[in-house]
Amino acid sequence: MSDFWQRAFIFPAVMLVFALLLWAVAGALPAALVFGTGMALRAFFHLRNLAALENWLAAPEKQPVPDGSGLWEDAFSQLNKMTQRYRKECEFNSRALQQMEQATSALPEGVAILDEADHIEWCNLLAENHFGLDCERDIGQQITYLARQPEFVNYLATRNFSEPLVLRDKRREGLVLSVKLIAYGNNKRLLISRDITQLERIEHMRRDFVANVSHELRTPLTVVNGFVETLHDMPNLENDMARRALQLMGEQTHRMKSLVDDLLTLSRLENDQNPLREEAVEIRSLMEEVFRQGQLLSDGKHLLQLRVESNANLLGCREELRSAFTNLLTNAIRYTPQHGEITLRWTEREGQPAFAVQDSGIGIAAQHIPRLTERFYRVDRSRSRETGGTGLGLAIVKHIAMRHQAKLEVTSEEGKGSTFALLFPVKRIALSQ
Ligand code: ADP
Repeated sequence: MSDFWQRAFIFPAVMLVFALLLWAVAGALPAALVFGTGMALRAFFHLRNLAALENWLAAPEKQPVPDGSGLWEDAFSQLNKMTQRYRKECEFNSRALQQMEQATSALPEGVAILDEADHIEWCNLLAENHFGLDCERDIGQQITYLARQPEFVNYLATRNFSEPLVLRDKRREGLVLSVKLIAYGNNKRLLISRDITQLERIEHMRRDFVANVSHELRTPLTVVNGFVETLHDMPNLENDMARRALQLMGEQTHRMKSLVDDLLTLSRLENDQNPLREEAVEIRSLMEEVFRQGQLLSDGKHLLQLRVESNANLLGCREELRSAFTNLLTNAIRYTPQHGEITLRWTEREGQPAFAVQDSGIGIAAQHIPRLTERFYRVDRSRSRETGGTGLGLAIVKHIAMRHQAKLEVTSEEGKGSTFALLFPVKRIALSQ
């Protein structure tokens, strides 16, 4: 028998023996009276401890666990240990939570936890500022109910969070946020917001500066170029050295003019105030125009082919598309040695319209490919210069692609050739009239 039951039965057993002895000595009635009184006292003792337990349970955090005696002493002591453990765990958890809250409020970014239906479960102070929330009041609310900008609502709805969203708050003039969602756990999402107002302002200033400098350089360059050409063409210029110097000056001013023109083109493409002028562009005639330009540039040195395999036309800006296609074809000609093959193609890939230029030229080593669209990034600086490159062509192509939601794909193998393709979204296909 366990210790508990031994201790539980010892009192009734003693009482019973005592009552039996009394019965033998004094008769049944006194024995029954003594046994009954003893058991009643025992029941009262248990009830008193039970009352103490109930009293404690009514407000356990305000009073210590009662002491109790006998069998109850053990039970109360276990309960006391359990309560102590529980209090320690609570303290530990609340300290950890406090530390996490302190850490997240020290973050330079707004952080909010959303459930699968975009309800706010928790947010830090910066997220409150960024989205105009009040953590106490708005927990459990749908975030799109509180931050209603259509771009933000769309971003959450499309569920494609690979790229951050740039959000301009129209209510608070000038505030620009970069917002990113990260999925984690069981359909939970972490909403991270970063204030990029200052960065945007600097970027704006940089763009304005480049645009202004390029614009200012244009007129003096045109004048110098004009004089150099006039002097070079003068019939009575007999000095060979002067003629050679003028020719070099002419080439360099021409190069500077190309640079300024490309910088101005880039500035125009980057300008937020310059939205895409959309029209239905007839691609066959555009491809033929670009192809003829390529033939002139190649001057019979390459085997040029034109393949228009799709009848799809595009919704977009003809001038910009012409510039992107020409840039890619011009590069193929410049980076393909004599007798090389170059194919200009308009086709469809899984229903998506695609422009591609394939060449059998010098190719590009894999490590350079991700950086090709950076301004002034060249694999071979001298070859680029010799062939009249500015280092801005692919940056221009990338911007035009972005404005048309197209993807620039580059596949290349050093020494074998390259393919530059522009993959347009299906929604850009122009319906034929
Ligand atoms: P660039 O004016 O120097 O040609 P781009 O921006 O047009 O500038 O191209 C960047 C670099 O990418 C070039 O300097 C060249 O090294 C590489 N490149 C572009 N197109 C090709 C191509 N078809 N074949 C090989 N290299 C190329």
